[in-house]
Amino acid sequence: MIFRSLAQLSFILIILSVSALCRAQDKDHQANTNYSNCKNAEQLDASTPLFTRVQSTPVDVLKMFHDAGMSPEEHHMTKEESHLVKSAFEMLPPLHQRVLKEHLRSISFLDNMPNTALTSIIEPDTPVRHYHITFRAAILKQNVSEWLTEKERTCFDNKDISRSVKVECGKLNAIFYVLLHEATHVVDGSLGLLTDLNTAENSTYNSFSSDFPP
Ligand SMILES: [Zn+2]
Repeated sequence: MIFRSLAQLSFILIILSVSALCRAQDKDHQANTNYSNCKNAEQLDASTPLFTRVQSTPVDVLKMFHDAGMSPEEHHMTKEESHLVKSAFEMLPPLHQRVLKEHLRSISFLDNMPNTALTSIIEPDTPVRHYHITFRAAILKQNVSEWLTEKERTCFDNKDISRSVKVECGKLNAIFYVLLHEATHVVDGSLGLLTDLNTAENSTYNSFSSDFPP
């Protein structure tokens, strides 16, 4: 394949890298979270701007970490971090923004969270699904290359000092990619595109997704 410009090649490399990370991050989900169900029922006002939906982490999510012997704590956002989150929401594709307005109840940020992010269903038995996304606050300080490098290195034995792994794909902040990934879970679950996200033990795949090779 011939790339018409360096920019075009860079874009494709970023897409490939993020695609690989999505798989790693989903493995992260399965290991740590399994799409937990929160029970913090509240009304959702679709007119509320997405970036203002930062709230405390649902008690069910915190309990899940505590039960696993971990102690993540609520992160208090700085002004700069809040601005970054606003920019990340504004960069989402129109479909994501439209679905999130109707289905994203809230987001939160935790310090000392083991995985990158977690999308949780709030009250799974209601006719309209609402979601909460919990992010590891440390990603707010990482650019995409730093974050991808950190993730990729978890796949290798770091005792071998003759090799090192580094991902270079620009300086854009990691939250843009992580939000896109988690927001896509909300789009998927809300529109039933790939799977009926309920819990990992109770996922049902439609023919579109089951026909994909693993
Ligand atoms: Zn995922």
